[in-house]
Amino acid sequence: MNHGIMVTRSSMPPFEEYINEIREIWDSHWMTNMGPKHEALRAALKAYLSATEIDLLTNGHMALELSIQALRLQGEVITTPFTFASTTHAIVRSGLTPVFCDIDPVTFTMDTSKLEGLITEKTCAIVPVHVYGNVCNVEEIQRIADAHGLKVIYDAAHTFGVRYKGQSVANYGDVSCYSFHATKVFNTIEGGAACFRDPELGRRICQLKNFGINGPESVIGVGANAKMNEFCAAMGLCNLRHVDEEIAKRKQVVERYRARLGQVPGVQLNPIQPEVQPNYAYFPVLFDPEVFGASRDDVFDALFANEIYARKYFYPLTNRFQCFQGQFDSAQTPVARRVSEQVLTLPLYSALPLEEVDRICDIILRCGRK
Ligand SMILES: *Cc1c(COP(=O)(O)O)cnc(C)c1O
Repeated sequence: MNHGIMVTRSSMPPFEEYINEIREIWDSHWMTNMGPKHEALRAALKAYLSATEIDLLTNGHMALELSIQALRLQGEVITTPFTFASTTHAIVRSGLTPVFCDIDPVTFTMDTSKLEGLITEKTCAIVPVHVYGNVCNVEEIQRIADAHGLKVIYDAAHTFGVRYKGQSVANYGDVSCYSFHATKVFNTIEGGAACFRDPELGRRICQLKNFGINGPESVIGVGANAKMNEFCAAMGLCNLRHVDEEIAKRKQVVERYRARLGQVPGVQLNPIQPEVQPNYAYFPVLFDPEVFGASRDDVFDALFANEIYARKYFYPLTNRFQCFQGQFDSAQTPVARRVSEQVLTLPLYSALPLEEVDRICDIILRCGRK
């Protein structure tokens, strides 16, 4: 067993609650293929996320891949490199070419002032990321997409429950893809969802997640297998009952971090965005070594020595991955490059005691200038 503090800890319902939830699966022997738990969770999430339409998938990555494939895209896709491997991989694995746009230095989302300059006659879509739950410049992205006839697929993996101007962020773009991985604010162990408005697009995603099968004797697409099983859906039904309470506890942790680190020279915190109701998914901190007196790596090491496992999240940039060696130039995305070298994501989960937050902050502050 580890005794240290990890960057996150998965939310789980009371054991008995889960056992009760899966009891019916033993009665019916219906373990997967869009059973009653899948349908119940789909309906519950549709309401919780105020989604026009929603489908459930095995994970957030397959939500991205199958959404991209359902839109039948070809050519170049503009995205950001300051994200999890999944975003870029979903584009490349679908036979498309990622074109990297730099990020905003405050919100870490796509810098829309640099977006139009990257559009060519080959551009077919934009894949922005609501990174850390920070909402992208959704209005400007839609304006540019409309002006150039581009599709928009949001990587909304970090945005469970986030609202912007009182509305769920699920309904922006052609598709918004959520992840319900064990490490996310809301989890189904592994899982994901695609939210969309066009029912025809939904039919294609639904077929693609089940081998392209259209009927007992009809296969109309070269699909994959990405169906959420009943056990994962049952976990989701349980966790959904507790998620508001989990988010409220996360808020307390975040407020303690902000109180301790908010006024420290050389330390930049995640922004509080106007008109956004956040979900407190992550607590990224940027260290400017010149001003703070210690680098991100120094702080990482100091925490590590105390068995506190913060994450260099996101580092390296996806356009610097070894698997893409020689294909992209991270000098084209200098802000993302700098942020990835200065950022550290601190431990954050609902059960993290505030005394531990204080201890983490004490260690960080000791790294800086005296
Ligand atoms: C977690 C995550 C994904 C992938 O989701 P999985 O459910 O793990 O497949 C995609 N994008 C981002 C930004 C993520 O954090």
